[in-house]
Amino acid sequence: MIEIKGLKKSYDKGKIKALNGIDLEIRKGEFVSIIGPSGSGKSTLLNMIGALDTAGEGSVEVAGIDLTKTKDLSKFRSQEIGFVFQLHNLIPNLTVLENVQIPMIGTSISGKDMEKRALKLLKSVDLEDRIDQRPTKLSGGERQRVAIARALVNNPSIILADEPTGALDSKTGDIILDLLKDLHKKENVTLVMVTHEPYVANMADRIITVRDGKILEEKTNNIT
Ligand code: ADP
Ligand code: ADP
Repeated sequence: MIEIKGLKKSYDKGKIKALNGIDLEIRKGEFVSIIGPSGSGKSTLLNMIGALDTAGEGSVEVAGIDLTKTKDLSKFRSQEIGFVFQLHNLIPNLTVLENVQIPMIGTSISGKDMEKRALKLLKSVDLEDRIDQRPTKLSGGERQRVAIARALVNNPSIILADEPTGALDSKTGDIILDLLKDLHKKENVTLVMVTHEPYVANMADRIITVRDGKILEEKTNNIT
């Protein structure tokens, strides 16, 4: 599902080496966590997988698509990837229902079906009574549930989550993690999650430790 070979990425004309030769394969339906100290390259790696960041050295193939060669990266993102960030990037002056529909704009889905699908997902994250509110009226956990509903709206094959619980208290964080784990189990979605918390990382099938832009260690988890 994800195949990365010799990936390097630098910023500031090469002064900052964010990734220093990453080789990584992730199978369809696998749940992988990426852990490591701040500044080790975790977000950069995730952003390269999701084609939010490009133009590195080496190769990145995701869902059969070579990201170094594909012209239409926004199409790739909207069809294959669901993003869940620490700061969920909801649009404040749109309602919850409208926010969830954003990724479907520009697809062939009709307006009526967009709304239906958004409603179904908002129900699945237990927010059907909040659909007409603006994100600012919601708690952090509720906002993150909206973000998850939005990430799923185009049936992505891969969910990329960057510190999805980073801005939440631990109880709310656990609810979000359960939701992500459930999804991964039921829908066979490939889940790649960046975190700096070992306790969160340990929920994955495989834990990748990144340091100084390299993979330091890989551990397979048998307890899940
Ligand atoms: P992590 O997610 O592990 O905290 P990042 O991938 O965010 O690490 O960052 C890796 C390194 O690359 C850091 O030194 C960071 O400051 C740098 N970096 C990340 N993004 C950019 C950017 N857009 N411009 C310049 N430097 C960046
Ligand atoms: P995290 O530690 O959770 O990875 P960061 O605060 O390091 O988050 O980075 C947040 C965003 O800022 C990332 O998308 C990254 O690309 C960007 N960024 C990080 N470091 C720099 C930097 N030195 N210059 C410009 N952008 C950066």
